Amino acid sequence: MENEAPKKGGIFRAYLNFNVLYKILIGLVIGAVAGIILAANGVTALPAWISMFGTIFTRLLKMIIIPMIVGSLVVGASSVSPANVGKVGIRVIIIYLVTSAIGVIIGLIMANIFQPHAELAAVTEMAADAAGKTADVSVWKTISDIVPTSVLSSLVNETVLQVIFFALIFGLCLSYMKVSDDERIRTISTTMYNVFDCLTEIMMKVVRGIMQYAPIGVAVLICEVFAKNGAKVAGALLTVTIACFLGYAIHIVLVYGGLLKIFRIKIGPFFKEARIPFITAFVTRSSNGTLPTTMEAAENLGVDKEVYAFSLPLGATINMDGTAIYQGVCAFFLVMSCFGRGLTFGEMAMVVLLATLASIGTAGVPGAGAIMLAMVMQGINLPIAEGTVLAGAYAMILGIDAILDMGRTALNVVGDLTCTCCIAKSTKFLKDDSVLLQ
Ligand code: ASP
Repeated sequence: MENEAPKKGGIFRAYLNFNVLYKILIGLVIGAVAGIILAANGVTALPAWISMFGTIFTRLLKMIIIPMIVGSLVVGASSVSPANVGKVGIRVIIIYLVTSAIGVIIGLIMANIFQPHAELAAVTEMAADAAGKTADVSVWKTISDIVPTSVLSSLVNETVLQVIFFALIFGLCLSYMKVSDDERIRTISTTMYNVFDCLTEIMMKVVRGIMQYAPIGVAVLICEVFAKNGAKVAGALLTVTIACFLGYAIHIVLVYGGLLKIFRIKIGPFFKEARIPFITAFVTRSSNGTLPTTMEAAENLGVDKEVYAFSLPLGATINMDGTAIYQGVCAFFLVMSCFGRGLTFGEMAMVVLLATLASIGTAGVPGAGAIMLAMVMQGINLPIAEGTVLAGAYAMILGIDAILDMGRTALNVVGDLTCTCCIAKSTKFLKDDSVLLQ
């Protein structure tokens, strides 16, 4: 992350000049230690005035999501020449879906090895609460909902997938108009392109400012998670957590490491640059919120804007490898906890299909994967109905969702960046002086 700080003097200036990555890490450690100390003393919630600093950070990131997505997708889709749209677009979507499907399979393998399951006497009265969150989830409805009926209401309601859908169509039309034979059409469409290009640049500038505040926000957010969950993370839930995080790690090494190798991309410089989006995703638990930093990483890695401005916002929504792994592990946990058996082969195949499909319609926001899990369970005919044991087990997962979400979001974001670099390399959209080629 670029530091745009004044050159000399003062504590404030020294703070601005200090590397953002280290500042965030320091914030993270301070927050975690404080959270553990609070949990040990029975304090599970922070006073509202402290909590506010974390909320402000998440709100700042959320604030820029829609303008970021609209600006970057329109610029992205319209700057790919009409001839390249098919070439880049189709490859991006295929690589996203395939890596997500591999993610669910890794999750299921982890689950079968670790066999996470709970003593259901521990099921709490949160059951009804959890069941309430599962209402109205269906794969087919999710797919048809992608098409907005009103663009304005999609923007106002922040329905990310609908916004993406419209921005892509808008950008694609613009890309055709920019090369029109009619000079008038060429001129007006270039003006329109410049407006969106400027919007994207402004948002990037805003992000750099927000990142200077990040260490404070991060410390508070992490402190809250540890204070709330610290003592509860035990036994079965610990096994679920280990299975998920091991799955995340394996996916990074095997799938991303493998892809980078296959596409002959330098692994060291890639992961060096991926650290900031990784950490930002880890603490914010939102791929969409992390988007600006992921974009900056892609820019620093020498990926052409034509590709990343299109593939990263799309990836933040449809590419969720970490979430896919989590689906595999948690679906197993739920079935094993409630029925004393693992998933059948048919159920596992269905989980792979559903989790991959569901990832398309799941926004990159905190906790979205937990709702998706309910949808997957419904798809394998084990709906999480109110008052059932299954609902209780689901509530237990919700209890540690924040921790699982940190890892899965970090993986989701690194996945977007990995696929983007690979596609850029294979379509010659990686700059010649990119660190990934040196
Ligand atoms: N928080 C995740 C993301 O933003 C989605 C999820 O809950 O799995 O990528």
